[in-house]
Amino acid sequence: MSLLTFAKIELHNLFSKPATRPYPEQPRNYPQRTRGHIENDVETCVLCGICSKKCPTGAIQVDRAGKSWSIQRFSCIQCGYCVESCPKKCLSMLQSYTQPAERKTIETVSKAPVENQNAS
Ligand code: SF4
Ligand code: SF4
Repeated sequence: MSLLTFAKIELHNLFSKPATRPYPEQPRNYPQRTRGHIENDVETCVLCGICSKKCPTGAIQVDRAGKSWSIQRFSCIQCGYCVESCPKKCLSMLQSYTQPAERKTIETVSKAPVENQNAS
């Protein structure tokens, strides 16, 4: 690379906008169809277990007795099949990604116990 070419590139970079953005002050806007991560509106979930049966990687576990729904984020491939399969439409694919982690953990959401309506 000649000195003149190098100087041109250097001047261009000096007076053009930076190629990066100041994250996290200016977060990225994800494209509309981004597949980020699965979220469950557990209050609508009936713990039928269909999502768990349909998941190709076995990332979802449903514990009907314990009234909880769990997902192994590292096993999820964001295929969206669970979202399509859920009869209650309580699963959604959010655009944001989960935080990086050094250990595989299982995220569990539990249904709140139903209040006894007859209690006085
Ligand atoms: S398919 Fe939907 S309603 Fe059934 S357990 Fe999964 S998230 Fe809950
Ligand atoms: S998006 Fe796919 S891999 Fe991830 S939990 Fe749902 S069905 Fe399983």
